[in-house]
Amino acid sequence: MNDTLSSRPASPDGWRAISKGMTTAIGGTPLIRLHRASEETGCEILGKAEFMNPGGSVKDRAALAIIEDALQRGTLKPGGTIVEGTAGNTGIGITLVAQAMGCKAVIVVPETQSREKLDFLRMIGADLRLVPAKPYRDPGNYVHVSRRLAEETGALWANQFDNTANREGHRTTTAREIWNQTQGKVDAFTCACGTGGTLAGIAIGLREQALEAGRKAPHIVLADPEGSGLYGWVKSNDMSIIGGSITEGIGQSRVTANLEGCAPDDAERIPDAEALDHIFSLTADEGLSVGGSSGINVASAIRTARKLGPGHTIVTILCDGGARYQSKLFNPEFLRSKGLPVPGWLA
Ligand code: PMP
Repeated sequence: MNDTLSSRPASPDGWRAISKGMTTAIGGTPLIRLHRASEETGCEILGKAEFMNPGGSVKDRAALAIIEDALQRGTLKPGGTIVEGTAGNTGIGITLVAQAMGCKAVIVVPETQSREKLDFLRMIGADLRLVPAKPYRDPGNYVHVSRRLAEETGALWANQFDNTANREGHRTTTAREIWNQTQGKVDAFTCACGTGGTLAGIAIGLREQALEAGRKAPHIVLADPEGSGLYGWVKSNDMSIIGGSITEGIGQSRVTANLEGCAPDDAERIPDAEALDHIFSLTADEGLSVGGSSGINVASAIRTARKLGPGHTIVTILCDGGARYQSKLFNPEFLRSKGLPVPGWLA
């Protein structure tokens, strides 16, 4: 079942011997076969290991794309400051990429985000501004605070939700990597949305590749946690919300500029207990430690496989690693307080 180092084939893009620096080490992540999910469904279910990026998440790609775009346009000057509101991972990516490229970053984060992400931001020297968690319609919401901070200080606002450099980064890198790694055999793609940059960029990129190759466009499925409006948006064009979720960084109550025009074919709404089941199984059965949104994504990939039937290849994203949520997803007391299952080895 498990291959060894010596039998591991080179990726279609080739392993890069020397990266010219941290920014060129972003992307080029492995696409990992998820054995249990694949065997249970008769499909090939593949997870793009974005937790292997230098900053530890899929958001390194958005951070790099946004900063490179701003430097090219001249809206960010070398040595200049970029401000962003984030659930944490984009803040980590932006701080590290800014440091690697000689810029400064200011990061606004709701104080409810996991302790590990906040500690990591402090550890890497982020200029961190914690704000109380407020809904988007409230002017105290972290996104609005970050926009005002940028305006007041004359810094650049990264605006990851509505800056389409974010999805463009995924169209030109993640989508192409997935296409090359599967040699064009990708029947479906599914992932959850925060900004929607990952889903939309990959959906648009894969559709373009399929068109060019004269192949059927992959089936695009939006994976949504409870407490988010996007499932309703795809299914019935109304953003009605049920329940809530402990997952961080995903779920959305508006159609961001990144999501506009992406038109997913379907959506799955995944309860936390179902997502956790996959997170614990990925650890116990496959040796992969991942965070909450990866569990939502894998659950959605399995549901999609069951709908499409055996023989299909379904790709999803393993967005970040489990260590970022040790005090929540892997803490028996926290799980019990939410009425969620505790895996045997933690209990
Ligand atoms: N998973 C995690 C862990 C994240 O931090 C984020 C972004 N906040 C996402 C998924 C969603 O990615 P995107 O913003 O590209 O929709």
